[in-house]
Amino acid sequence: MKTLHFEIHSPENDDISKVASILKDGGIAAIPTETVYGLAGNALKGECVKKIYRAKGRPSDNPLIVHISDISQWAPLVKSIPESALALAEKFWPGPLTIILPKSDIIPTEISGGLGTVAVRMPSDEIAKAIISACGFPLAAPSANTSGKPSPTCASHVTEDLDGKIDAIVDSGECSVGIESTVITLATDIPRLLRPGGITPEMLTEVLGEIEIDDAVYNKLHEGAEAASPGMKYKHYSPDAKVLIVKGSFDNYKKYIEDSAEEGDVALCFEEEVKQLSIKCITYGRKDDPSSQAKNIFDALRKVDEEKAKTVYARFPENEGIGLAVFNRLVRAAAFNIIEV
Ligand code: AMP
Ligand code: MG
Repeated sequence: MKTLHFEIHSPENDDISKVASILKDGGIAAIPTETVYGLAGNALKGECVKKIYRAKGRPSDNPLIVHISDISQWAPLVKSIPESALALAEKFWPGPLTIILPKSDIIPTEISGGLGTVAVRMPSDEIAKAIISACGFPLAAPSANTSGKPSPTCASHVTEDLDGKIDAIVDSGECSVGIESTVITLATDIPRLLRPGGITPEMLTEVLGEIEIDDAVYNKLHEGAEAASPGMKYKHYSPDAKVLIVKGSFDNYKKYIEDSAEEGDVALCFEEEVKQLSIKCITYGRKDDPSSQAKNIFDALRKVDEEKAKTVYARFPENEGIGLAVFNRLVRAAAFNIIEV
């Protein structure tokens, strides 16, 4: 398949309608959002949704998020919208928060991976919103990467993984958040955080009162355990190299690397630390700035592969606030390989 490439930097760009035509004709296209690039298709058509799974190589039991551009598109997708959901939407939409509720009958079974619920989000990215509006229907859009690989935060990441497998790629530069949306389910008695992201647990608690944090946010699922969020059970964000998170002070991290690193190994560290380390460094943001870490982590994980590194020694991020999302992605890239020094 020949993939068409568009460069769009304004919601008024004429190419928006070309991309919308591709989607209206049942095609699939990678589009920018503020979180990561998404692989979009008509959320209300099972055959479009199937194309997305095929192009990504995504397991069919891992459900997709439905993206809307206007609040009025939400009600038809779900059984009902409780007060708590409206309060979240009012505070955090458009933005990086996905809300799960029991689904209505118009949601194709392919999207929900066989679950009785559907995940919905309204992105804030102007290009994404313009494309959804021009389509006139909601778009299913998981991250536009090959399943298992680091999520794409710029169009060249998408091209690396999906060129020739999808109808179009829209390039609008780097994503501003750089990490996927926060996912919360309101289909449980107490709201439950399934995936940390740009909207932090503290921000959610302020609106909802009590929330629970799913065990899979911090820990590896036990063999045979059922995942509340199926995505959490799969190997994720993994470069080809072995990633090891080294938890401890910078001095101990440095010493550990000096004692253990071999030819071709790489340090995945913070920008301020490069000069003090004796091996090749790839940075993921600034030390005390978790937002910059979120923005850079996926690109850094892709660079690790470009370097053909064997072992990667990663600095442990502060796992609070948006740092919790950075930790959650990094610990999966490392297959929960953490060493304390
Ligand atoms: P991605 O589309 O790649 O950002 O991944 C979407 C994430 O949301 C995955 O971890 C899914 O398992 C999760 N998700 C989507 N829909 C649901 C749902 N209905 N119930 C639970 N988790 C969901
Ligand atoms: Mg993904």
